[in-house]
Amino acid sequence: MTAIRRQTVFASLDHPRVWPMTPRAPRPERLDLALDVLPGVGKAVARRLAALGVHTVRDALEHRPHRYESAVDEVAIRDLHPDQEAVIVGEVLNVAKRRLRGRRVRVTARVSDGSVPVTAGWFNQPWVADQLEPGMRVRLRGKLGRYGFDVRSYDLGDETATSTADFAPVYPASEEIAQKTVRRVVAAALPHVADVFDPLPAEVREREALPLKRDALAVVHRPESNVEAETGRRRLAFEELLLLQIGIARRVAERERTLAPSLGEPGELARRYREALPFALTPYQEQAIRELDSDLARTVPMQRLLQGDVGSGKTVVALYALLRAVGAGRQGALMAPTETLAEQHFLTIADLCLELGVTCELLTSALSARDHAAVRGRIASGEARIAVGTHALIQREVSFADLAVAVVDEQHRFGVEQRSALAQGRSPHVLHMTATPIPRTLTLTVYGDLAISEIAKPPASRKPIVTSWIEEQRASEAYTRLARLLREGRQAYVVCPLVEASETTLARAAEEEAERLRRAELADFRVGCLHGRLKPAERRDVMARFKAGELDVLVATTVIEVGVDVPNATVMIVQEADRFGLAQLHQLRGRVGRGAEQSYCLLVSRQREELSEPAQTRLQALCDTTDGFELAEVDLDLRGGGALLGTRQSGISDLRFARIRADRPLLERARTAARALAGESGPLRDAVDALFAEVEPETLA
Ligand code: ADP
Ligand code: MG
Repeated sequence: MTAIRRQTVFASLDHPRVWPMTPRAPRPERLDLALDVLPGVGKAVARRLAALGVHTVRDALEHRPHRYESAVDEVAIRDLHPDQEAVIVGEVLNVAKRRLRGRRVRVTARVSDGSVPVTAGWFNQPWVADQLEPGMRVRLRGKLGRYGFDVRSYDLGDETATSTADFAPVYPASEEIAQKTVRRVVAAALPHVADVFDPLPAEVREREALPLKRDALAVVHRPESNVEAETGRRRLAFEELLLLQIGIARRVAERERTLAPSLGEPGELARRYREALPFALTPYQEQAIRELDSDLARTVPMQRLLQGDVGSGKTVVALYALLRAVGAGRQGALMAPTETLAEQHFLTIADLCLELGVTCELLTSALSARDHAAVRGRIASGEARIAVGTHALIQREVSFADLAVAVVDEQHRFGVEQRSALAQGRSPHVLHMTATPIPRTLTLTVYGDLAISEIAKPPASRKPIVTSWIEEQRASEAYTRLARLLREGRQAYVVCPLVEASETTLARAAEEEAERLRRAELADFRVGCLHGRLKPAERRDVMARFKAGELDVLVATTVIEVGVDVPNATVMIVQEADRFGLAQLHQLRGRVGRGAEQSYCLLVSRQREELSEPAQTRLQALCDTTDGFELAEVDLDLRGGGALLGTRQSGISDLRFARIRADRPLLERARTAARALAGESGPLRDAVDALFAEVEPETLA
């Protein structure tokens, strides 16, 4: 191994607490074991971490803190100042647990350090009461508030101070798993950094003055300063960006070697389609179509991203692309992330296809085995010219007679190219659609190999949706406003909370909520309910009644996210809006504001103080703007380019350490380095393969 000369930050740091714990031969295979091999980590905890995407020991090591606590003084209780964060160390005198309004719980403990006693309080962490005992030593970090010492983090008994330490890492956690538990799991995983192999060639590490990967991981979790943490993060970010750039370069090279059928010039069918549309295409749609046409004439497979806000008119362009395939005597496929969305797409295009005499088939798992086989048969024989289904269905179960254009809605894009059904060296033209506008910074980097078409403005100039954020104690005001608008003849959506649950539980929750609203706030109105457990026919019926104005309110799960289009629906209430992601709320909101009337979106959340900072930022951002690109930038900042829908769609596993925007200079360096390394084999190549490994399509409803 080559020594690293310029280890500015790490030179003085030998992290005995973390690594090496014991001198032993590296056993990298242990990194891929499930979390519950770690001491003190049971199956239940492992399951809750899995929901955060942390499955293995390696995942735990790569679970990046999104921030660090600042350094604070340890003070005597007597010297505490209100509103100044500090650490106190003392002994528990007694413990109490109280139920507050709602489902809230407060645990209190009288704590003394010999100077004076203080009442320490925990909000909504009932389990703390079971961990505390009189006589126990505790180290608490928090602030003196109105009701005593508000605890933000704590270490109990003889534990080493990990939660209350200066620069303690703060991890992405969830409602289901406490910050303290995440810290404990990462701490248990930390000795395994010794097994982490560094894929970067020694020359690159040296030239860029980068520490070894395992040292970088160690300081990311146990920094002694913010600067040190950032140095570690940058090392890991550089690697991600480098692999990404190498992968993109390879992908472009591969594509140029692949053949797709040239579809020539648009013909008769394309012309009839334009005539059949009840409106003229907007200049943006025309531009996108020109770009498509020029791609489709070539024999290099198209890889184009069509982006535009919900309702901007993408589907019209997508159908055009599919019809270009049909017009050339070949087939098209439209793939959606969920069955519900596939059905909605089908309903949108079926009438037009019928009018044009184009056979279009919907493949869903709701079909009987016999019908399913029949549909697949018609796709395989070429009788079906356009097939609509989920990504999973189309990629796994179908072989086409002659697929020339695949439209992929809101999903990663690798599957299509990897379909075994396609002959080696041949690929369809692929159009990716997304309503989550991807910031330009990302399109130049993560999507470096995609051509982009943008529908920047929706067809008619619509009034921006007025969005307000309402805390749940004042939710009745939201319903009062809703009722007023309903009386004026408008229609509304009420979106039920997003709970970690099965489609069946969600459906039941929606039914119950609809029932409750029919008895209470919305007793005077006709309330329907829409969820993923309804049969397609029932769902169509509910939608048709809503569209026809026979229902005033639609209580729904997120199945209304895309594809529902009722211009008279001008109000949306989203319950427990803080549980939704930014992109998802923006999508949901896009269901209103489709007509000429002023539309409103009311986001109901728990009390502001109870929300995490990112949740507050998300809700505020939605109130501040309806511009999808702006919101995408906010999302990018909040998530650092991590689990962005857009990133998933790129077919690349999440970036954990890179911050696409802030790391722009780092990215440029990685890009330069990538050019020299693109042909590299060995560990670097394996690492690129792993990063670009196919992400399994999600199996949603
Ligand atoms: P997206 O797929 O981007 O959400 P759609 O293609 O579903 O948007 O279009 C949203 C609505 O606007 C649909 O009702 C569609 O019929 C209508 N629409 C699309 N293009 C135009 C246009 N050029 N002029 C008028 N209405 C249009
Ligand atoms: Mg659409």
